[in-house]
Amino acid sequence: MNSKFSSEMVQHFAEVVTDVARIGGWVVDLSSQRVLWSSPTYEIFGTDPKEDISLEDAISYFLEDYRETATQRFDHATSNGQSFQFEAEIKTQDGVKKWVKVHGRPLLDNDQKPTHVVGIFEDITQRIDAFERINTQQQYLTSVIASILEGLIVINKQGKICSFNTAAASIFGYKEHEVLNENIAMLMPNPHSDRHDNYIKNYHQTSIGKIIGIGREVMGRRKNQQVFPMYVSVAEVEIKGETHFLGTVRDLSKEKESARKIEWLSNYDEQTGLPNRSYLLNYMEKQGVEQHITVVSVNIDRFKRIFLAYGQNGSEQVLKSIADRLKANCNEHDFICKDFADRFWLVLPDEHLADHHQLEARLESLKTALEAPYLVNGQRHYISATLGAAYSEPTPHAVNLLSKAELAMHDAKRRGNGLYNIYQSDHQHSNILEEYDTERQLREGLERDELVFYVQPKYTSGGELVSAELLVRWQKPDGTMAYPDSFISIAEESGLIQQIGEQALERAAQMLAELAKINCSISLAVNVSPIQFLNEQFVSNVISVFDQYRVDLSKLIIEVTENLLITDIEVEEVRNRTRILESLGAKISIDDFGTGYSSLQRIQELTISEIKIDKSFTWKCQDEKGRELVNAMIQIGKSMRLTVVAEGVETKEQLNELRDMGVDVYQGYLFNKPMTFEAFIQQLRD
Ligand code: C2E
Ligand code: CA
Ligand code: CA
Repeated sequence: MNSKFSSEMVQHFAEVVTDVARIGGWVVDLSSQRVLWSSPTYEIFGTDPKEDISLEDAISYFLEDYRETATQRFDHATSNGQSFQFEAEIKTQDGVKKWVKVHGRPLLDNDQKPTHVVGIFEDITQRIDAFERINTQQQYLTSVIASILEGLIVINKQGKICSFNTAAASIFGYKEHEVLNENIAMLMPNPHSDRHDNYIKNYHQTSIGKIIGIGREVMGRRKNQQVFPMYVSVAEVEIKGETHFLGTVRDLSKEKESARKIEWLSNYDEQTGLPNRSYLLNYMEKQGVEQHITVVSVNIDRFKRIFLAYGQNGSEQVLKSIADRLKANCNEHDFICKDFADRFWLVLPDEHLADHHQLEARLESLKTALEAPYLVNGQRHYISATLGAAYSEPTPHAVNLLSKAELAMHDAKRRGNGLYNIYQSDHQHSNILEEYDTERQLREGLERDELVFYVQPKYTSGGELVSAELLVRWQKPDGTMAYPDSFISIAEESGLIQQIGEQALERAAQMLAELAKINCSISLAVNVSPIQFLNEQFVSNVISVFDQYRVDLSKLIIEVTENLLITDIEVEEVRNRTRILESLGAKISIDDFGTGYSSLQRIQELTISEIKIDKSFTWKCQDEKGRELVNAMIQIGKSMRLTVVAEGVETKEQLNELRDMGVDVYQGYLFNKPMTFEAFIQQLRD
């Protein structure tokens, strides 16, 4: 030591240095096992400097995991005379954890035997913390890069892959180790892979990277050799002083797929795979300029029944079979379209169809194909189709054929389901256009309250008045009167029937209230259309209207037709409603008995009071065949204990014939024509 410094100074200097460097000294006396600490050591360990410390105490400051190491290193030093160093975690008196680096060296006596071990503690907590921070940051970055959804690939100037993240691995199907140091061209199909080598060559020569910076769509190749579209953008990066390229890769195959799907859906019908209406319209714009074409509008009759009876799946199944049958009936030049709901279109460029007979034959064969039974849920189902066709010489206005075919189809429909019709001229189909007009007028007429309810009485065979039926009339503003046959079906199609039906019920309740005032206790019959009867509100409407006019429901007869009973679902609903209405006292009458489609068994399952033999049978009751039919109907009615009514009785002969067969109630021009309610009241008074 240099004599220019006092021993106090040296001592002080040592303390300052050790303090700043966070270093504490220690000495162990091997013979007594006592330990001597310098004051910074006490500070590191957070203990009181006056405390006396044993070797055992000192070791107990180490965390359990490090105690064995510490003891071993210490023992080793004393037996071999070697110095040592290790890092360990300690827990201070106050419970704070710290990292220390321990250095130690034995002191030997003259016989080379260790007497003491001296050393230092270096507090390295801050350094370890910083290191851990860096370490976790690195882990964080690594996991961020791994979780980036876009593939990241780094290549060097030679085109060799230096790094490949998880997303890249899942896009290309390679593990990182399979591609490292391989040429990037392995991830591209030809010709891109060849070109890529050129890009890199080019870059070397000109230092201008054609691929740099611009994102582009190129094809990639997966490990399984599948080629797919990807979006790649490349950036130049400097890594350890060397130029590298960082490529960002996005797999476009899913996006392309959904774009294709959306494109497809906008032009095709999903269920049948056939072109849809918008495709048809586009197609028609381009058709017909050079060729003769025929457009056929195909409409499945009462398709709703299939839907009600078999649900979504069943009706989809039928629509698919219809599509298949149309395909089987067409050749590769024909165009088949599936429009909304149950509508199909055919565009046939066959010039032979200019011949009316050939076109008819074609429509006939289409109908035959469509009307063969369909198997739905193991059950045979029959449908009928109505077809409308329109033909044209080459024309730039082929698209107009659609509405012409539509008009022809509607016309056929109006004459009955399951027919076909060929467009002639607007004039010949003017009735359809009239129908549209009627609907509009009826709507306005309803608003102006133009409906009037006439009544037509019904009598017993003895001539006693028992009831009267309400029959609607439309008093138009021009003074003419329209009869229900000209507007009821239009009202049913357009939904206006609901309002008409409500008016009829209300008028019936009003009339009954007035009849009660003059002590007339007859019943009134109201015609209820199936659509109205199946409306959810129907029963509650009836009850509330009759309640409002304080008339008894037992005075109401509800006339419904058999057509109410067509599908299974409807049958169940009708059965419930008739039961409820009858239990409230109202009577259900089956109108137009014998003309509908439903089976007798279905009618027998209903709670009803009356059948009404249609006037078409009444008029035939004097032929032999007609008599047999009417007789059979009467027997059915009697066996079910129902009142049997005959409508349309026009002659005494008909009356006598029917009376002999046992009809209970009669209605017809022989007695009265339908009349206004006022006229009816007047007749009652006379
Ligand atoms: P429907 O219920 O079968 O009514 C009998 C039709 O035959 C009535 O025609 C009536 O005027 C007519 N008629 C009655 N007796 C004779 C006769 O002896 N000879 C002849 N040739 N005809 C006779 P209308 O009033 O034109 O009614 C036609 C159909 O309109 C009715 O047939 C009924 O189904 C429907 N209808 C009438 N009013 C309503 C209503 O308020 N609501 C509903 N939903 N339908 C109604
Ligand atoms: Ca009726
Ligand atoms: Ca009838």
